[in-house]
Amino acid sequence: MARAANPAAARAAATQILRRLREAGHTAYFAGGCVRDALLGLRPTDYDVATDATPARISQLFNRTAEVGAAFGVVLVHEQVGGERVTVEVATFRADGPYSDARRPDHVVFSSPQEDAARRDFTINALFLDPLAEPDDLATPAERAAEGRIIDHVNGAADLSARLIRAVGDPDKRLAEDHLRALRAVRFAARLGFAIDPATAGALTRHAAELRGVSRERIGDELRRILLHPSRAHAVELLQQLGLDAPVLTEAARRVEPAVLRQIEHMQPSVGVPLGAWALDRTGAAGSGLGDEDIGALSRRWRAALCLSNEESAELAAILRGHQYLTRAWSAATVARQKRWASSSWFAGSSQLVRATDSQALISITQTISKHKSDGIGLNPAPLLDGNDLIGAGFSPSPSFKRVLDDVYDAQLEGRVRDQNEAVELARRLYV
Ligand code: ATP
Ligand code: MG
Repeated sequence: MARAANPAAARAAATQILRRLREAGHTAYFAGGCVRDALLGLRPTDYDVATDATPARISQLFNRTAEVGAAFGVVLVHEQVGGERVTVEVATFRADGPYSDARRPDHVVFSSPQEDAARRDFTINALFLDPLAEPDDLATPAERAAEGRIIDHVNGAADLSARLIRAVGDPDKRLAEDHLRALRAVRFAARLGFAIDPATAGALTRHAAELRGVSRERIGDELRRILLHPSRAHAVELLQQLGLDAPVLTEAARRVEPAVLRQIEHMQPSVGVPLGAWALDRTGAAGSGLGDEDIGALSRRWRAALCLSNEESAELAAILRGHQYLTRAWSAATVARQKRWASSSWFAGSSQLVRATDSQALISITQTISKHKSDGIGLNPAPLLDGNDLIGAGFSPSPSFKRVLDDVYDAQLEGRVRDQNEAVELARRLYV
């Protein structure tokens, strides 16, 4: 793949590499996702090059390479294009050997473009593109848009026009080789707005339970990508329809309308908010918020199921708890508590869930917060007092420092103490 911030630089780098391979007498094409996306009129930033040159030969032809996956026929080539350094993944045409761990082929055999297309998962992902073809040779509008000639061994161009996800070859066999392909099918269908071909969909449903054999890490990675994309609600519907929600989350299957997921913001910086939205949809707790114990159990279960990081599972739990505070406890909370919540790391994420489940509540919360912001004290002023100040004022260090400082800060947030003297005064009364 070619990684670059800008699509033009990525394409230029990949084309430069392709030209060099051709000049050296090799066959070389763009391959996989970049071809699919270019034909759809999207502007890919990741280009893969496939060639009949072996990894050793690729390393010879280019100055700066890294043989990260030479055993699988993959070499990274670094190219400089207009001041930008682009890394392109150049892979030798190959046929995959048997899959004994349903993840990676045991070995690969360097092979022809036909066989390389046949090892790929879906027909729309198995197309090659020749960007050096003469403009006169470009026959279809899609080829002209993508500025390249399509080399199609799997009838993928027709599926791309028909907007269909179809397994290359026998769907049952292809799934048995690697069950993660089920989630890839859902991701591409949702992201591109394509249908899944009935024979492929049938195989996905039949083999859904076998997804449990795939490593939780790979499942989690794929699900993150699904949930971070704006098409997430549709993807979740597909997961449910195909019976994949249960093996993905290692819990009972559910058929629920993903109403909260549909309402959250399109772009999400992290996976906590979409996971929280999905949790509310699945548990039917959108109105009431989830209870503490349920939040603990669910975030532990999903953490294991999706191989979430500590940060991700903590974020999920905090956002769900925050949603519960904001929907159930906001109006009865003290000003100090409201200010603390409003400045918490979870507040933005929880607010998204509140807006999705009870937009009126969010409006009134937002109004209260604006009032707090302009009360002359603010939401999170610097504390008037810290532990050193307490020691300076003659207190001896003790475990009750934190409680005292918390109480003094609450008083500060509510305007009950206005300067450091008043703060120390209050600390004296509290420090018993
Ligand atoms: P994306 O835009 O998500 O990167 P992509 O199609 O480029 O989409 P990659 O995961 O980058 O997807 O893989 C590149 C190509 O490798 C795919 O287009 C497909 O041809 C092939 N491929 C990737 N994963 C698999 C798999 N699990 N089984 C078969 N082929 C795969
Ligand atoms: Mg890719």
